[in-house]
Amino acid sequence: MNHYPEAILKLIRHLCKLPGIGEKSAERFAMHLLTAPDEEVAGLAGSIADLKKQVKVCNTCFCLSDRQTCRICSDPGRDHGLVCVVESPADMAAVEKSGSYPGVYHVLQGLLSPMDGIGPEELRIRELVGRVAAGKVSEVVIATSTSVEGEATADYITRALKSYSVKITRIASGVPMGGELKYIDQVTLKKALEARRAV
Ligand SMILES: [Zn+2]
Repeated sequence: MNHYPEAILKLIRHLCKLPGIGEKSAERFAMHLLTAPDEEVAGLAGSIADLKKQVKVCNTCFCLSDRQTCRICSDPGRDHGLVCVVESPADMAAVEKSGSYPGVYHVLQGLLSPMDGIGPEELRIRELVGRVAAGKVSEVVIATSTSVEGEATADYITRALKSYSVKITRIASGVPMGGELKYIDQVTLKKALEARRAV
């Protein structure tokens, strides 16, 4: 590997930081880019550069969006009194794909994990409490995964919302222990949402 020019080594080092990319794949990508047409390489570089500039976070639900308030939060056809709490934009996409959820979302951007230094302040829990405190939410469906962190996060949110008159439910049925939402098939996820239980 060390016989490559520095520019290639540098690219390989960057690519290796991506999830699921080992040194061999990184080397293959670098070699591919080296022989790819200039427009293709410029297009890829440009879209990476634009990513952070153009993708915004919705000011209400904290999902990824290209505008200040996302498509779902600004849709009058959705039930804004029903808020589904998910860990990540990928989990939100999984619930959307299940096709039957009529409400809106709240994206935590992580799960409580004291070992990794992720406490409630690192998540969007205060903002969730703020949405509930504003009085327009009638039900909060906690759809974090059934992992230890997912359960701890669900417990924390339940306690944080206890003093408000809001119905709190948790999806459970059909979601396997330790299961991550984004890997669950759409039918199971749809059933799990329908069979949510009060906590
Ligand atoms: Zn939104």
